[in-house]
This record gives sequence, C-alpha cells and structure tokens, in this order.
Amino acid sequence: MNKPARIIPRTSRAKHARQWQQALSGAVDSPAELDRRLGLAPRPAAGAARDFRVRVPEAFLDRIRPGDPDDPLLRQVFPDPREDAVQPGYSTDPLAEQEAMAVPGLLQKYPGRALLTLTGACAIHCRYCFRRHFPYAEASPRGARWQAVLDHLRAHPDVEEIILSGGDPLTLADAGWPPVSPTSRPCRTCSACACIPAPRWYCPSGSHRRC
Ligand code: SF4
Repeated sequence: MNKPARIIPRTSRAKHARQWQQALSGAVDSPAELDRRLGLAPRPAAGAARDFRVRVPEAFLDRIRPGDPDDPLLRQVFPDPREDAVQPGYSTDPLAEQEAMAVPGLLQKYPGRALLTLTGACAIHCRYCFRRHFPYAEASPRGARWQAVLDHLRAHPDVEEIILSGGDPLTLADAGWPPVSPTSRPCRTCSACACIPAPRWYCPSGSHRRC
C-alpha cells in the first residue's frame, strides 16, 4: 500500500517570526511561578535571581518532572541560595574572557579562531552560565562597532573560523544579524534555541527545520 505523501507546509516569513518570538516572550520568569507550575511548595528566592533572572520557555518546562525539586532540568534553571555566597578564589569572569577581548565583542583566546558575543539575550537562563556577568552592553560588536571587528579580522588572516555566540545569537531577529559574509570565514553558531517549540530557521522555499 502506498504511504500518504508528507508535505511540509509553507509558512510566511511574518508568521514564522511571530511563532518563535511568541515562544520566547512567553517564557516563565520567576522562581515562584516555576514552583507553582510544577506543584512545588514555594521556596525562598535566591538574591541572585534579581541580577540573573529566571527564564524558562514553556517547551523546556514541559520536560521537567512535576513535584520533583531535584529534577536535573529544574536544577539547571532554578536559582539556588548558594549562588549568593562569595567564595574565595571564585571570579565573575572565570574564563578570563575580558583579557581575551581584542575589540569590543570579539574574543580571541586561541590561534585560528575568534568568537563574537552578538547578544546578551538567551532563550533560557542556565544558572551555571559562565557569562552571566559578562558586560554585554559595552562588549557588543554590532552597530558602529562592527567595522572594528572587520578590521581586526582583515589584520588576522590566520583566523579560520568564527563562532557566533552570546548569549544566544538565534534570539536576534533576522534583521539584527551583522553582515558576517564580508569576513569570508566559516561561521559556527552556538544556540540553545532547540528548547523553543517553534522552528527558528526560515526558508523561503517552505522547508525549514529546528535549530
Ligand atoms: S549563554 Fe548558554 S549557558 Fe549561558 S544562559 Fe545562555 S544558553 Fe545558558
């Protein structure tokens, strides 16, 4: 028997943008709401939740076991009071990334590879994030600072690969992406947008996939 054909529906660019942007804007953003949604007794909120807010998209919340405060996915996103403790030997810049910033928003720690911190926004906030204190406002490579990035890359032809990072570059609207093609280098994108239910990539031909 012939199998029925599976057709990928065409989606307009505007509708596609609405889908993933609504999925992002509807994220749960408070510890109390997380506890309520998961059927847990309210817990005292860590002060760290004020500086690095809770952010959990619905699709990620759906994967957390209700009623289990030790579910590993919940531990990934729920602020822990131990985050407020100041520990000797610990740093807000554990990877010494500010020393590696060649121009605002371009980190170069290793030969042959550079990383761009395109945005401070993420689809989800992971409590272990080593960039939670990163000075994104001063270190954005976009807008007027983009020329300095291009100049640096032209002066360093040994850079063979560019990593697009942040934050999460896929939280930027398509129009917010810098024109990376003039850099003439292969680009890799770091993203956690797979936890958003709506597909992030748009393809005018009508076939798109999740990132
Ligand atoms: S940069 Fe990565 S680790 Fe940090 S909060 Fe965003 S998704 Fe999580």
